[in-house]
Amino acid sequence: MQITDLRSDTVTRPTPAMLQAMFSAEVGDDVYGEDATINTLEAKTAAMFGMEAGLFCPSGTMTNQIAIKVHTQPLTEVICDVTAHIYQYEGGGISFNSSASVALVQGTRGKMTPQQVEAHIRPLDNVHFPETKLVALENTCNKGGGTFYTLEEIAAISEVCKRHNLALHLDGARVFNALAASGDKAQDYGKYFDSISICLSKGLGAPVGSVLLGSKDFIKRSRRVRKVLGGGMRQAGYLAAACIYALDNHVERLQEDHRKAKAMEETLLQTDYVESVLPVETNIVIFKLNNKYSDKAFVDSLAKEGIRASSFGPQMIRFVTHLDVTEEMLQHTLQVLNAMSQAAVATS
Ligand SMILES: *Cc1c(COP(=O)(O)O)cnc(C)c1O
Repeated sequence: MQITDLRSDTVTRPTPAMLQAMFSAEVGDDVYGEDATINTLEAKTAAMFGMEAGLFCPSGTMTNQIAIKVHTQPLTEVICDVTAHIYQYEGGGISFNSSASVALVQGTRGKMTPQQVEAHIRPLDNVHFPETKLVALENTCNKGGGTFYTLEEIAAISEVCKRHNLALHLDGARVFNALAASGDKAQDYGKYFDSISICLSKGLGAPVGSVLLGSKDFIKRSRRVRKVLGGGMRQAGYLAAACIYALDNHVERLQEDHRKAKAMEETLLQTDYVESVLPVETNIVIFKLNNKYSDKAFVDSLAKEGIRASSFGPQMIRFVTHLDVTEEMLQHTLQVLNAMSQAAVATS
């Protein structure tokens, strides 16, 4: 049976052309700064986002955690939305790696307003409080259901940060989805962020790879932290080649993933088992089931039809579309979702 894997956009396999690019990569020892392909990827992504320099890392968790480490010290605080990946899904790394505190904002679907950010900044010169140092945004917001910030919204938060002398970091694991949906230019991001983490292993389909972007000085300090975390790789240009291939070939097509996610949303809204769907903005579909199916029963029923999905909390399901979800898989999924609506459910 053909498997349609909607659990995450991390499940993609390298395409034959991507593998070919990997096989023919020029490599060297990156800890010595001698891997030409990694150097190209770092320079290319930095230029793309209007930043000075880049640092290739094995994961987005590492790029985020390095950025937080370089921007903060113990006794300082990071402001982020309560749903943020850096807080929810990085194993408590902010406390483990940086000994920093976190101020959690109750945003809307993962997005904070400039007013909310400002309200969470601690008063200066009061020893009771940690010292606010960093604000971190996520674009798109995973737990928010793929919502995105526009450049205008980013600029307004950046203005608050500049006024209070705070650094602004972007967890851009799905920033290319945000750019595809907003129509904003990557180039403009450099003006507003002090650091940006981008992932090539999500919607862009590379097997491994994230890049941390920032000023030359910031990246120099980040390189030391990457080494101590064990992220100094050697001939990793084979991986960077997949990332370069992904940037050159898999960005334009992201609209396809968004269209497929939208089609799933439209079908789900017609069924008798869905209570609500978070309005789809990019490639993530998060929905709540009514009591016809439990989330476990729903995921199991889909699995019988060759469709893999994630339970995302009580009665919550997440689908993510990506490079390896074909048109045929989309049609199969829509058909199964419809059929489950007409199906009678055994109550025992
Ligand atoms: C996937 C993801 C990351 C990074 O995850 P890794 O698996 O460590 O590469 C960071 N932020 C968000 C929002 C993500 O979805």
